[in-house]
Amino acid sequence: MAVAYAHDPEPDTRQEHPVGTSPDPVELSSRIIDTGTAEPPHNRVTGELTQVDEDIAVVESFSHCWVIRTDEGLVCFDTSGAGSGTAVVEAIRAWTDDPFHSLVYTHGHLDHVGGSGAFMADALNRGEPRPMVLAHEAVPARFERYRTTNGWNMVINQRQFGGVRKPVAMGIGGSGRKFLPEDVAEPDTTFRDTLTIEAGDRSIELHHARGETDDHAWGWDGSNLTAYTGDFMSWVFPNAGNPQKVQRYPIEWAAALRQMLAIGAERVFPAHGLPIVGRQRVELVLGDLAEALEHLSGRTLELMNEGATLDTIIHEVSVPEHLRDRPWLAPQYDEPEFVVRNVYRQFGGWWDGNAANLKPAPESALAAEVVALAGSVETLTDRALELAEAGEIRLACHLVEMAVAAEPHHEGAHRARANIYWQRRKVTRSLMSKGIFAAAARESEAELGEKVVGDPLGESLGKALG
Ligand SMILES: [Zn+2]
Repeated sequence: MAVAYAHDPEPDTRQEHPVGTSPDPVELSSRIIDTGTAEPPHNRVTGELTQVDEDIAVVESFSHCWVIRTDEGLVCFDTSGAGSGTAVVEAIRAWTDDPFHSLVYTHGHLDHVGGSGAFMADALNRGEPRPMVLAHEAVPARFERYRTTNGWNMVINQRQFGGVRKPVAMGIGGSGRKFLPEDVAEPDTTFRDTLTIEAGDRSIELHHARGETDDHAWGWDGSNLTAYTGDFMSWVFPNAGNPQKVQRYPIEWAAALRQMLAIGAERVFPAHGLPIVGRQRVELVLGDLAEALEHLSGRTLELMNEGATLDTIIHEVSVPEHLRDRPWLAPQYDEPEFVVRNVYRQFGGWWDGNAANLKPAPESALAAEVVALAGSVETLTDRALELAEAGEIRLACHLVEMAVAAEPHHEGAHRARANIYWQRRKVTRSLMSKGIFAAAARESEAELGEKVVGDPLGESLGKALG
């Protein structure tokens, strides 16, 4: 079916709407894909609304909100985070006065559901019915898990996003001590495999697939061959390995991307990053993503089936050479090595295959033995610094961790540890690793009595998401 896209010279069906100074997201995306050259930032948090079609608009935020105008009201994919929901609703209100018909959560992560309170407040203020909230059936269980593990989630998010004290700043977490904001709307209707939204003359299918999460959904509008992909496409290397979070599903993720291609998607409208318009561009980008995930999981499973240990696998499996420089696969948030670990965990459990690690001695006891063999803590820290200097940063970290484990208040050991982790952070690309390394460095600085301040969250996220 022929579809008029925003980049076609005519007819231009766009209407007057508040326009910001940012380059048109579709033009930018097409240029990046056609030239293969990155033009960061690809993940823009402008808060601006762009109309990409007569009845479809996006507010680029964290996450984006995709808005589809129908005769029965607005269908929205995702509501952005708690801190940005109100601004997103305001941007939509500057575009149209139509009531909200329904809100789709592509999944239950807070940057997608946190803004729902603002959408509900808008309906209430305008005296309109509450929009229907649609989501996969595992979303309510996720919310319950967030309540059960509130403290844990606050701690790991602070580490993941640069060791900052206040994850509130970007509106990812809720305010106060609650990870899940209290005004997040619970889903009204849930589904297991598929659900069709009928609104006006629009018919949009929701499909469930596991990927970044177990509760993911993507939308399909066959009338204009458009896929609303949530986090299945996010313009960074897929978040399929996250070291501090629950299981991700790289194999099913790749399968979902293949299904979007098979169904005939010509437009991909993601929750992070830029819209992708044009069949060839969709084939290239989704194909690359699927190939990278299939390769990592396929090789990991092959090696597991040969009886290889985790140690062998993580040092042997990597992304194929020809995909390493793709602007849409930059390992700036998550990274391939963690995806390998996640596949191992999914099929192999938590034991790494080293018999000593099955029921290990306390780290401090092992470290004390090694320090005794080396002669002193200084021998260990000196060697750690030497290795770091020589670029053997992985080894350097092991030695300096042992030094600190053997003597937890040793000034020189903590000084070396802070130095080594700052050095390691500099040569690391992914936000997840950078956050953990910064947190380790700051832990040692705090032990040394120094004043420790976290990174500004917006800045570290902006850099990480490119
Ligand atoms: Zn997201």
